[in-house]
Amino acid sequence: MIPYARQDVSDEDVAVVVEVLRSDWLTQGPVVGRFEQAVAANCGASAGVAVSSGTAALHLACRALGLEPGDGVWTSPNSFVASANCARYCDCDVDFIDIDPKTYNLSVAALEEKLYRSEQQGNLPKAVIAVHFAGQSCDMEQIWGLSQKYGFKVIEDASHAIGGRYRDTAVGSCRYSDLTVFSFHPVKIITTAEGGMVMANDEGLLERLRLLRSHGIARDPAAMASPDEGAWYYEQIDLGYNYRMSDMQAALGLSQLNRLEAFVQRRRFLASQYDQALEGLPLVRPWQHPDCQSSYHLYPVQVVGGSKQRRELYDALHHRDIRVQVHYIPIHTQPYYRSLGFACDAFPEAESYYARTISLPMYPAMTDEDQAAVVDTLHEVL
Ligand SMILES: *Cc1c(COP(=O)(O)O)cnc(C)c1O
Repeated sequence: MIPYARQDVSDEDVAVVVEVLRSDWLTQGPVVGRFEQAVAANCGASAGVAVSSGTAALHLACRALGLEPGDGVWTSPNSFVASANCARYCDCDVDFIDIDPKTYNLSVAALEEKLYRSEQQGNLPKAVIAVHFAGQSCDMEQIWGLSQKYGFKVIEDASHAIGGRYRDTAVGSCRYSDLTVFSFHPVKIITTAEGGMVMANDEGLLERLRLLRSHGIARDPAAMASPDEGAWYYEQIDLGYNYRMSDMQAALGLSQLNRLEAFVQRRRFLASQYDQALEGLPLVRPWQHPDCQSSYHLYPVQVVGGSKQRRELYDALHHRDIRVQVHYIPIHTQPYYRSLGFACDAFPEAESYYARTISLPMYPAMTDEDQAAVVDTLHEVL
């Protein structure tokens, strides 16, 4: 069986987790801090706040930016539902920006047009969540420029993109955003089992993220309303959550981070092999923007026929135990979002892309033989 994605956990990764299990700390402790510092150093942000999932990271990002009920939040329909749900948790009004048919990321031209119209109507968004689909960064300099012009906050959903680069920055540096979110789910680039992190450069935002991660409880006397009543004393000063990461997870993450570069190199090599081996087949291969170096979380191809051909190809590959996947069912077509009033034909580029796309197997432990089997099967079936 060849999956579309899977984690690569080494003996070394296992050993560091076992070491934590025998230590004094199992929940958030010193290893979480070390993991946060290591990720921040790796991507060039001043700090990171580790949390229990990428979804929790997105939710905290929305809360830290002060998003409130009724605020407009825009994102890409070509993403996992969490990219939009995080704003719904804050009772924000979610809307979508259709995708660019070449990069499959949100179209900056469509964003600009919608901002222009929204300004006329007096309903500009409070935040845009830019999703780096498949590991390729959005055009962040342009999105950041628009945020300065129209006054909205920018969150990068980089769940697919740790290890990727945009121009002369690493994804996660927050050079062109307020906050960047990573996911460490096992199908992503590095894993902590469940886990995520929010990266930031602003000390005020980092403080809020840390506060909200743990119930909104402050232990620093400077943040408290009443004088310190003793060493036991704490105050809940906001409504937070238990979104903490455990030291076991952070140990796995630290060990995986040592392997990030090798993982991404392997993914890029596999992508270049697919690029060559699929030439001549009736498939649209993923296009790379010259400003971006993708971390290749996914290698999506589009069939040139319609959804019927995609289904046949998907079934034929699964029949041969090649477990390809489809990314993504456009978020606005989900029944929950339809119940909020979205029409199934509201974002035609995302819908047309969805009808034709299949993500081929892509993971660092994929062998050359596994990849050759996928390529041979595609040649045979097509
Ligand atoms: C995986 C993913 C998430 C959610 O991450 P979890 O760690 O599974 O909560 C959010 N956005 C995108 C684009 C993702 O791929």
